[in-house]
Amino acid sequence: APRDHLDLGLVVRGHGRHYLVETAEGGRILCHPRGKKSDAVVGDRVRWQMTGSDEGVIEALEPRRNLLYRQDEWRSKSFAANVDQLLVLVAVEPVFSESLLSRALVAAAEAGIEARIGLNKTDLPGVAAARQRLAPYTAMGIQVFEWSLQADPAGALARLAPWLQGKTTLVLGPSGTGKSTLTNLLIPDAQAQVGEISEALNSGRHTTTHTQWYWLDAERQSGWLDSPGFQTFGIQHITPTQLAGLMPDFAAAAAAGCRFANCTHRQEPGCAVQAALKEGRIVESRYRIYLELHDELSRPPHYG
Ligand code: GDP
Ligand code: ZN
Repeated sequence: APRDHLDLGLVVRGHGRHYLVETAEGGRILCHPRGKKSDAVVGDRVRWQMTGSDEGVIEALEPRRNLLYRQDEWRSKSFAANVDQLLVLVAVEPVFSESLLSRALVAAAEAGIEARIGLNKTDLPGVAAARQRLAPYTAMGIQVFEWSLQADPAGALARLAPWLQGKTTLVLGPSGTGKSTLTNLLIPDAQAQVGEISEALNSGRHTTTHTQWYWLDAERQSGWLDSPGFQTFGIQHITPTQLAGLMPDFAAAAAAGCRFANCTHRQEPGCAVQAALKEGRIVESRYRIYLELHDELSRPPHYG
């Protein structure tokens, strides 16, 4: 391809039509997309070249391994590419939303990435109740890290570090969960990095909803993607028919075989999922979430 002579870069931050692209040597350069529209998101590998003494242009995107979407008002908007794994951070307090958690797990499953849950604030008395709420998730094979970033930050990092090694991890967490605490433990100069980058992009200080790429190591092997303010994955690219297959407890139940091949697992007779619900192999909270997501995916899509 003719673009092979162009330099390869990594998008570490995007703000409107301003992108910060990290060069192969590790320098960072302000780039604009060629043409009016740009689909580049953080995590994209791009072909770029210099246009002036200190700016560049993004000529093309490299093929993506995956693409993740956030729910932005009423539509799905892509925000990160080439993510290897997802850490959903929850805490003993504030009580987490199982619906947002399940939605994140569905989005990760669709993208083909491993998701794990981090339960923070295990120093608080509500820990037993939190574990109980997470039991269905551990039962379906999702790994849960437990820690107190306050009582034992070193212990938390020791448990987390091997999993992060050599991977690009997206972290997600409702506010008050301890996500900034964790990011600052992992990347001690995170605040300074964000400041520098905002300055380079001329984006001022109020850009906290933008996804930020950090390196966890000097060798630039392990990436950490933080999207402050982000809780809700966009799932409009998923079809209602796909949904049960992306929920491990539902997939396991449906494997027994519903009477109808196109069963929606809602009110059809001979439904293996509803049988599992009656027998407690699927818990009620998960079934409610299935209905909620299934309804959402069954509505006609919005375009805008
Ligand atoms: P964020 O909103 O998710 O970024 O959360 P922060 O990192 O700002 O933490 C929210 C609050 O929880 C702060 O007051 C932290 O000091 C507190 N916090 C963080 N980790 C722990 C923990 O392990 N135990 C307790 N009790 N509090 C914590
Ligand atoms: Zn069924």
